[in-house]
Amino acid sequence: MKTIELLNYARDAWTRGEGVREIPSAIDGSTIASTGSDGLDFKAMLDHARNVGGPALRKMTFHERAWMLKDLGLAIMERKDELYALNPHTGATKGDGWIDIDGGALTLLSYSSTGRKKLPNAHVLLDGELEPLSKGGTFVGQHILTPHQGAAVHINAYNFPVWGMLEKMAPTLLAGMPCIVKPATATAYLCEAAFRILIETGKLPEGAVQLIVGGVGDLFDHLTGQDVVSFTGSAATAGKLKNHPTVLRESVQFVAEQDSLNASMLGTDAAPGSPEFDLFIAEVVREMTTKAGQKCTAIRRILAPAQHLDAVQGAIAGKLADIAAGDPREKETQLGCLVSTSQRDDVRAKIAELVEGGARIVHGDPDAAVGPEGGAAISPTLLRADDPWAADAVHEVEAFGPVATVMPYKDIDDAIALANRGMGSLALSLFTYDEQIAGEFIRGAAAFHGRMLVINRDNAKESTGHGSPLPVLVHGGPGRAGGSEEMGGVRGVHHYMQRTAIQSTPSMIAAIAQQYIPGGPKRKLDTHPFKLTMSELEIGDTLYTDARTVTVEDIEHFAEFTGDKFYAHMDEEAAKASPIFEGRVAHGYLILSFAAGLFVYAPPGPVLANTGLENLRFLTPLYPGDSMRVELTVRSKSIKSDETGVVKWAVEIFNQDDELVATYDLLTENTP
Ligand code: NDP
Repeated sequence: MKTIELLNYARDAWTRGEGVREIPSAIDGSTIASTGSDGLDFKAMLDHARNVGGPALRKMTFHERAWMLKDLGLAIMERKDELYALNPHTGATKGDGWIDIDGGALTLLSYSSTGRKKLPNAHVLLDGELEPLSKGGTFVGQHILTPHQGAAVHINAYNFPVWGMLEKMAPTLLAGMPCIVKPATATAYLCEAAFRILIETGKLPEGAVQLIVGGVGDLFDHLTGQDVVSFTGSAATAGKLKNHPTVLRESVQFVAEQDSLNASMLGTDAAPGSPEFDLFIAEVVREMTTKAGQKCTAIRRILAPAQHLDAVQGAIAGKLADIAAGDPREKETQLGCLVSTSQRDDVRAKIAELVEGGARIVHGDPDAAVGPEGGAAISPTLLRADDPWAADAVHEVEAFGPVATVMPYKDIDDAIALANRGMGSLALSLFTYDEQIAGEFIRGAAAFHGRMLVINRDNAKESTGHGSPLPVLVHGGPGRAGGSEEMGGVRGVHHYMQRTAIQSTPSMIAAIAQQYIPGGPKRKLDTHPFKLTMSELEIGDTLYTDARTVTVEDIEHFAEFTGDKFYAHMDEEAAKASPIFEGRVAHGYLILSFAAGLFVYAPPGPVLANTGLENLRFLTPLYPGDSMRVELTVRSKSIKSDETGVVKWAVEIFNQDDELVATYDLLTENTP
């Protein structure tokens, strides 16, 4: 294969770097690509992101940026064959490639959907509720989030060159921040190919993304407090970069996701022969072999009840014996290569450290020759530590390959202590059918783990598995795992935004936030809002309904009809005797139903369906003879697709004295 010359993408131009290095293929060590970034003007790249990319992205709304992510995700899907052609050279089988390539595109699509469904079509996010700060209600507080005005520097690991780039890029762009991507050199050719597809969509504004294929030169010297560094890789590099003097001096936000000693545990209830035992064995073997064990979430520590340790070891070893390791291009290969022969040397050295630290090899030979000559294939290795409390290395040393250690635990407390002995991990799985065991274990260990799965016969078929980070769930972990979070739906977007507490009048805050806020300005509509499409409706548009009186007959009719004859509605004496009411009151649900009767426009139109209500509060009782009226205000709008969107309406119900009887947010599905 012809050597691919990798180029940097700096200031919207493909740029050749100096200090060129050759990158070997994992399959046989032949040169697959050449790369270099020396000579780039890194300060100018940061300035370009800040001065060109940032302003362009910040002009777009969350929804516009979300649609852009969809175009990017679809482009990767359409051209993924180009990426699969390069994939085996990273050591990955086709199945491994799916996690990286399809998984990366799906992450973009997931974030596109999150942006359109969960974020407003605006430039500002609200964080939490409006905080009343004064008696008269003229002075209130609201936390808002706006995008950082710097560059996000993404430093990625070698194991997922496509997904690793896209899982960071998606929330960053959605937040409205530009990014500079620096892939790990070992697999930079696959990342560069995916990056090229993104650029060729023509959908990204200038300066939104840049790429460095090589070292980052003096880039860190020019960081400021508006920049964010998001890093995945070894604890050693993370430690070095987060202690860079500029990062410390400028308080540069640093997100780290680093190697960890993830565990999987078999519950005491799951004896050999139980479905959970079999599921556990299958998952451990899958985690050891997928991506040749080069996954940040891979299971390194296998915790088994002491009485089942031999059975667990035997079952895992039995399955590993059938695994075909070697050339990732071959269909029958289940365990591909490590990324490079130097990574293989590192794995062998780490296994030696584990053995020196009290574990012994019970299956596999890491020195055995497998796969094509010159390549980085390795066979799987299972170790055993009979006394895990005396074997510190098994909780500290990560062999980043198809390597894991089985160890016994005595009881749940011992299992919790052993799981937590890793001092912070990304993922932990527990195989049990016993809810008490699960509850006790998770409550004791959750503080040390970023994501935990309880897998059993009921959910195994649909489970996404121990090792799969998902865009909607947080990926990260405390301590050893880096002490940060990535993704987690909207949470991941927040990492690229600044939270600011704003104090002012409700109307000022509504204007700043581009959303209706209770107490903020309303615009009286001449047309019924249910006759208007989403594009015709504006934030703050309000329908003021007529008033209707609520009678005793209404209350009794409602009670008969629904069967809700609660004393407060039906028994005058008992209601009076309560500390809350002065007499019989209308049902809350009657008030809601009458409210709908007051504001609904019946014929078919742009409002397609009522999909729910949120934040319902009954504030003032409504007594027979009182009247009620509704103010229905457009609070926010989110487009889901070309055909539908969601309008959130603030519903405020007042009595004849203009006291607030009830408030809630109504959600309707609308025509855009
Ligand atoms: P590194 O920490 O060495 O590299 C991670 C990233 O940091 C790469 O992009 C690398 O670039 C970059 N980098 C390294 N030094 C610097 C620097 N001084 N300034 C800026 N960027 C830098 O990890 P490796 O990929 O070499 O893997 C080593 C070990 O890390 C593995 O054996 C494994 O234990 C762990 N690991 C953990 C991962 C996880 O997801 N938690 C993923 C991958 C590895 P370059 O490649 O150009 O050096």
